[in-house]
Amino acid sequence: MTNQHTEISTLGEFGLIDHLTKSFKLEQSSSVKGVGDDAAVLRYGEKEILVTTDLLLEGIHFDLTYTPLKHLGYKSAIVNFSDIYAMNGKPQQITVSLGISKRFSVEQLEEFYSGIKLACAHYGVDLVGGDTSASLTGFTISITCIGMADKEKVVYRNGAKENDLICVSGDLGAAYMGLQLLEREKAVFKEAESVQPDFAGKEYILERQLKPEARKDIIELLAEQNIQPTSMMDVSDGLSSELLHICKQSNTGCRIYEDRIPIDYQTAIMAEQFNMNLVTAALNGGEDYELLFTVPLSEHERISELKGIKVIGHITAPSLGCYMIARDGTEIELVAQGWNSLKD
Ligand code: ADP
Ligand code: MG
Repeated sequence: MTNQHTEISTLGEFGLIDHLTKSFKLEQSSSVKGVGDDAAVLRYGEKEILVTTDLLLEGIHFDLTYTPLKHLGYKSAIVNFSDIYAMNGKPQQITVSLGISKRFSVEQLEEFYSGIKLACAHYGVDLVGGDTSASLTGFTISITCIGMADKEKVVYRNGAKENDLICVSGDLGAAYMGLQLLEREKAVFKEAESVQPDFAGKEYILERQLKPEARKDIIELLAEQNIQPTSMMDVSDGLSSELLHICKQSNTGCRIYEDRIPIDYQTAIMAEQFNMNLVTAALNGGEDYELLFTVPLSEHERISELKGIKVIGHITAPSLGCYMIARDGTEIELVAQGWNSLKD
């Protein structure tokens, strides 16, 4: 044991992972990609096997006062599927490990599993195992997902090339605004329990927070169109942070344009009500589970025609840095705010 005490916050989440894992070298010929992407890539025969795992803790990742257990089950599965799609793979199996606090009833756990079942049915994934233990510190969920991809189809974070187009699916910032709304209503409810929240007209942002989907449809659309992204990841920590990952791993810079960032109407209304900067919410909100990817410039015409995909900028030489061009033409440097849960 050492007597040194370095605060985790000095490294940040990604710095910590890097610090702890960098001395682990891949020794097995079946290990194609280890730490550092949306999923690990293993090679067994013709197909590549993708593995990803996520840990969700009560009080950190979810709040049971406003999260229905069925939704939580659904979302816990979805976030893993999303990481497999982000490698251009297909999720096949999950294992579900739970830490269960005593206050849970069988019926509540049934609710949770009904959400997992729905997600599995919807995405064509089998539940094949897990582990169960008592927990003294609240509900704990760890899900591992195994996926599959053709060898030449796997897309990493490090393949972006200068002049590639930067694309994003769906719209951004909605899940974050949904969370803000739920947190506000929770605070109001604490003050006066008789006040029932009014969520009329806010269904979209609530659904984005409580019952997100993984973009299986976008992966299928790109395959149908024969468009192979050069790099890809899912947007779980916020566009800004994810784009910096792609640029860092690809050794590039980037330019994105504020007026091209896709934002839903309800997200905009909510940001205004909260007096929040809309673009900041879209760049840093997180939990969108959209796909961020790059394609060669030569695909411009074809990609621009696809519904649900927006070209938001392009990849540059590394020396040009990573910037967003604001509506008034000023260049704003992208910073990784993300969901740094290890920072207080
Ligand atoms: P995502 O947001 O896509 O789930 P993470 O930021 O959680 O990705 O993880 C980034 C990379 O670091 C992944 O390759 C993941 O497997 C790896 N990783 C995260 N935590 C650990 C850990 N404690 N030990 C080893 N690898 C880790
Ligand atoms: Mg991911």
